[in-house]
Amino acid sequence: MPLRYRYRLYPTKPQRQALARAFGCARVVYNDAVAARRAAYDDGAKYPSSTTLSRQFITEAKRTPERAWLAGVSAIVLQQAVRDCDAAYTRFFDAVKTRGGRFVGHPRFKSRKDNRQAIRLTRNGFSVRDDGRLALARIGDVAVRWSRDLPSPPSSVTVIRDRAGRYFASFVVEVEEQPLPAATNDDGSEAERALDLGLYHFAVDQHGVPIDNPRCLRRAERRLKKAQRAVSRKQRGSRNRAKARQRLARAHARVGDARSAFLHELTTHLVRENQAIYIEDLAVRGLSRGRNAKSVNDAAWGRFRALLEEKAARCGRTVVAVGRFEPTTQRCSVCGGLHGPTDEGARKWTCPGCGSRHDRDTNAARNILALGRRERLNARGADVRPPDPGAVGREAGSVTPA
Ligand SMILES: [Zn+2]
Repeated sequence: MPLRYRYRLYPTKPQRQALARAFGCARVVYNDAVAARRAAYDDGAKYPSSTTLSRQFITEAKRTPERAWLAGVSAIVLQQAVRDCDAAYTRFFDAVKTRGGRFVGHPRFKSRKDNRQAIRLTRNGFSVRDDGRLALARIGDVAVRWSRDLPSPPSSVTVIRDRAGRYFASFVVEVEEQPLPAATNDDGSEAERALDLGLYHFAVDQHGVPIDNPRCLRRAERRLKKAQRAVSRKQRGSRNRAKARQRLARAHARVGDARSAFLHELTTHLVRENQAIYIEDLAVRGLSRGRNAKSVNDAAWGRFRALLEEKAARCGRTVVAVGRFEPTTQRCSVCGGLHGPTDEGARKWTCPGCGSRHDRDTNAARNILALGRRERLNARGADVRPPDPGAVGREAGSVTPA
């Protein structure tokens, strides 16, 4: 299975200039390809192939005075830019085809002002030197901090400059699966964890145990808010504003690092301790929540799920994201009635159907557990259906799953 390994890069000043040129050229070729495909899409014309676009926007463009500077960077970088555009369109078309799937917009143009600048190089465009430097075509030998060993020779590398001005190399490597021994409880049963992801706690499990964001992340987030306020107070176009923006970028980077470290640690722990982990499909859930909460948490939750699924696949564990449109918060996990609170504020509630006293998040996690178990059994092709806490409410016709 392919995995990403990321390392910090320390390019010299000339290398940074060469990288800036490469980012710029890759962006221009990518945007030319997007423009050509948008035009074809709007005209209902045939979708131009990567080969056609490569010829038009790389080979032939280099011969024109307007695009002659493309010759200054590695052709591999430019070809990958066309391929990236292709991949973006494949995702777009797939999303259009899948009804009810996550909304994916038309691939957009890239800008010089984007927070993340990147180029991609394939096998023949890079190599690792004996002295540990990373040789990049037309850029040079760049110093790398090898924070961990690469498990196998990488098939491609993406060189990234983030908004804080840091450089990274992200390698795609093929990794062998490493199944872990079965995770069991003290009584010998399979260890399982169901998580209700939330805003107050990062998550709460079926036993009511909360998982919180670590203090260092909360502190970094507070600093980020301060840095944001500082920028808005400074006069536009002033030197002080530019400085405040730099500080803001660094604060953003620190929040990203802290969150990433937390999510890595958490997912590793969850996968090691549990045979199956059940979560909620978040694509729809995000829509039901407030605007501001959505943007911040969707990113973290999306990354959490991706890391969890990646590690689980590698270790022979199961992750089930239970279906959309399941009212996990409103349904009583004891009697199955749809009696729960509809407003996000109420943390505790008593079910009028059966009199059970519930913590909102724990109750949701228990519903996720039941739904996840059922989906997992169905996926295995088992005939047996475990008791479904939701069956009562559904038979009564109170909810029609889409
Ligand atoms: Zn009840």
